[in-house]
Order: sequence, then structure tokens, then C-alpha cells
Amino acid sequence: MKILVINCGSSSLKYQLIETNGGKVLAKGLAERIGINDSLLTHNVNDNKIKIKKDMKDHKDAIKMVLDALINSEYGVIKDMSEINAVGHRVVHGGEAFTGSVLITDDVLKAITDCIELAPLHNPANIEGIKACQHIMPNVPMVAVFDTAFHQTMPDYAYLYSIPYEYYVKYRIRRYGFHGTSHKYVSRRAAEILNRPIEDLKIITCHLGNGSSIAAIKGGNSIDTSMGFTPLEGLAMGTRSGNIDPSIISYLMEKENVSAEEVINILNKKSGVYGISGISSDFRDIEEAAFKDGNKRAQLSLNIFSYRVKKTIGSYAAAMGGIDAIVFTAGVGENSPEIRESILEGLDFLGFKLDKEKNNVSGKEAIISTNDSKVKIMVVPTNEEYMIAKDTEKIVNTIA
Ligand code: AMP
Repeated sequence: MKILVINCGSSSLKYQLIETNGGKVLAKGLAERIGINDSLLTHNVNDNKIKIKKDMKDHKDAIKMVLDALINSEYGVIKDMSEINAVGHRVVHGGEAFTGSVLITDDVLKAITDCIELAPLHNPANIEGIKACQHIMPNVPMVAVFDTAFHQTMPDYAYLYSIPYEYYVKYRIRRYGFHGTSHKYVSRRAAEILNRPIEDLKIITCHLGNGSSIAAIKGGNSIDTSMGFTPLEGLAMGTRSGNIDPSIISYLMEKENVSAEEVINILNKKSGVYGISGISSDFRDIEEAAFKDGNKRAQLSLNIFSYRVKKTIGSYAAAMGGIDAIVFTAGVGENSPEIRESILEGLDFLGFKLDKEKNNVSGKEAIISTNDSKVKIMVVPTNEEYMIAKDTEKIVNTIA
């Protein structure tokens, strides 16, 4: 099947046209500055990058341009729109309504709309994208794939905060977790590489990128993950603080004379390795400053980052009663041998034995533990778009 995968932001739209049989990406691209000015579509086919400048006043315009690019006689990859079998939409928040991917119906769209208050920055853009596609491709089945759905298998004692229970009932305050599509993909792929049934495995997946989260996956199901009600909880990240004592919020409001919203903005945008290093949120810049220039705060920010990942690994080993494999993925997890090494340093007692030679790998699948390591240490590049395409194919097949 040819599946168009769509990931909409408020002013952007990322797309990939994927042939699910074999997983080839036929074309991919990005529409930027939708509804602003100087809108731009960058369309990639093989290694050719085509830039098309044209006003896109809304997501409908963007989708039209994407489809025009896909069927263009010069740089298109299909002859006709009818070759697109289905569209898979990334949707950030499915609340408790969605435990897996679903065919989009009016009721589903309403339920996604009901989750806007849980993801006010993301769900409205995702809905825009769905509506735009429905308008332009009314007869093509659409599937929603949620970032939160994979973590819906967490038990109540893992997803509930210890605050008055009524807030969970009244306001849906609980831990949801994010990056679900990535955690699901890399855990499945790891089981395939190890040639073992996922049902038999206890896997820790470390999605370490600009946003970072870890998941404990037992028998194929997420039983805990580090992000919570929002993606702000958990690890130290590029610009996000991760866990802090909540009392800091009111203390900072008073000291800095700022609103709660401004403090949350600081915790989301000015904290993490950026806030500690004062240099950058980009781990490449920080590694360069730490390792080449000997910058102490850059080193400290990396120490904080790795230490939190290490602590979380230990706690998930306890939560699952052991670990068979650990998987590193996303920008940092896939590409930084130094950070992987510092995370695993001192974890031999849990059965991790890193092979330093094999660890010298970047951006490709590899087993980087020694042959006698009890826990398999792996690098698996994430592929959320492929996972979305496969889920979409599966659902479309059930209705065919
Ligand atoms: P992501 O959010 O998955 O796209 O990851 C983005 C992060 O990965 C950025 O902070 C990048 O600096 C980081 N990254 C990419 N390549 C490398 C690398 N070779 N070494 C360290 N960090 C990297």
C-alpha cells in the first residue's frame, strides 16, 4: 500500500509517502510558514530537494501543494492521487479514549477534539491537518496514530499522581506519556533483531533527542514511562527541566515577579541542558564545548542528563523485575557513543557490559554489548513514520 503520513504543527506540515511493502519512502517533505508569509514547501525525492515558494494560507493549501508535488510530472512519484491508499495522521494526545490507532470517523474526531485541553498546542494543529485532508481527499480512509496510546497499558499505580483522586476523575490529571509510536517501533524492532518474541522480553527504550523519554516495556506493553501529564515531566531535556519540586514554581513566581505561565515557559523552553550549560539546547554544541573546550557547565549539563537517564534505568529494572535489553534511539541515543557510555557507566551490576568498540556506531542498527553481556545493549534508529504507515495499513485492511 502507498500511505501518506502526515504530521501537522500549527504552521508546519511534515509528510512522507511510504510504500508499506518494503518500507520505501517514495517522497517526503515539509511545508513551513503555513498561514504566515513566505510559505515554503521542501519536497525530497531520492536525494533531490525541490523548494517551492508559494503562499499557503491554511493547511488545506498546504495539503494541495503536497499532492501537487507528489503527482508532478517532473519530480512527482505517483501518477494520480488515487494511488494513495490511505492517510495516517500523527495525533499527539488521545487521552484515555484511545489505546491504539483508529480509523477516523466523526466520533473519533470529536474525541480528539475533547483532548484539546490536554494538548492545547498540538491537538488543534493535528485536527486542522485531518480536516484539510478529509476536504481534499474525501474518499480516502484516514487513520489517527496517537503519541499517548502505546502507554495506555500502564497500571493505575504507575499513571496516577498522588494528589486528590477527584482531580483525576474531574480533570483527567494523570500520567499519559508521549513518544509512544517511537517506543513501540524500536521495542518491536529490537525483538526482531534479537529474534525473540516480544512477549518474552523486558525492554527499556531510551528515546533521547531534543525531547527525551524512557519506557519500561514488559511483554510488549508499556508499564511505565518518564513523561507524564505533559512532556515536561521526567528527564532533563534539550530545553525542558524534567522533574523538579513543584514548590519551585510558586517560589520563582514570587522571586522573579512572573506569572505561573511564565515559569512553565521557563521550564519548557529555557531549562534542561540549555539552561544548565547556557550554551545551546543542541547536544552536538554541548558535547563540543564540554569535550573540546573543557567548558565546565557544558560538562555539568551532560552529567545531569546522563545521571537522570541512569537513575530511571535502575528504577525500571526494579519495576519490571529485570531487563533483557536496552535500546537507544532518537538524535542523541542513536548518535552519541559518549553519552551512551556515560549513561551505562557503573551499571555492570545490573548485567550491562558495553563493548566500547561496538559502541562506536552512529545512526544505524547495532548490538553494542559484549557477547557475554546479560543485557543486550542496542542502537535502533527510530522510524515513527513507518510505524504510522504500518498501523494505518493494518486498520485499512480490517475495513476492506
Ligand atoms: P531529535 O529530537 O531526535 O531530532 O534529536 C535532536 C538532538 O540530537 C539534537 O540535540 C542533536 O544535537 C542531537 N544529535 C544529533 N546528532 C548527534 C551526534 N552525532 N552527537 C550528539 N548529539 C547528536
